[in-house]
Amino acid sequence: MDHFSAQSSPFLPRPFLCQSLQPKGGSNVLLVIAHPDDESMFFTPTINFLISRGHNVQILCLSIGDADGKGNIRKQELFQACVALKIPMQQVKIVDHPDLQDGFGKVWNHSLLANIIEEETINHKINMIITFDNYGVSGHCNHRDVHYGVCKVLYDTLQRDIEVWELVSNNILRKYSGPVDIWLSMFLPMLHPNETMQCLINEHPHRSVLAMAQHSSQWVWFRKLFVAMSSYTYMNTLRKIK
Ligand SMILES: [Zn+2]
Repeated sequence: MDHFSAQSSPFLPRPFLCQSLQPKGGSNVLLVIAHPDDESMFFTPTINFLISRGHNVQILCLSIGDADGKGNIRKQELFQACVALKIPMQQVKIVDHPDLQDGFGKVWNHSLLANIIEEETINHKINMIITFDNYGVSGHCNHRDVHYGVCKVLYDTLQRDIEVWELVSNNILRKYSGPVDIWLSMFLPMLHPNETMQCLINEHPHRSVLAMAQHSSQWVWFRKLFVAMSSYTYMNTLRKIK
């Protein structure tokens, strides 16, 4: 069962319509990320959409982001960012496991990830998971491992009614095209007619900046530039994993 249904957008012409969406009803949605700040840098169009339509959003962050020794600070920053994104703090879980530490050289075990993710889906009666795709936006190995951990949950629990959607990684042209990507994305479903895709336009881009600014330890000039220029600030393309 799809938990999204299509609704025409007033400013995107058919047949190039990149769907604007309405949920059929409140769903329990689990956003699975690797580091504190992933939610604000990459997923805010999705979060804003879900919150404004009455979905119940849980965040599962699989590390404290301790690559620079600032993990405890970054945990608090994630809670503050979620307040800015209208997600109650009790709906945010941050894992600090010795085998799931932030870093480019750190390989995360997919079975371990799947066990943690599945436990969370059971505890919160999750019926939709959203996470990175197999490139992970930036190619970061932790993002990619999170994707495979979620896929393992999907494939190992076929009997459960859980939809899984992945955030489509953009090429470098689209990644830094800012709001222009809204128009570029119109053509994506035409290029991939056999895939189920949804384009979510950020209704509150200022909230993305506000959320990212809560990550004070990360809020340096190049990330400010990234948030301003990044297409992920303005829209997310989600693809359903079958
Ligand atoms: Zn990350």
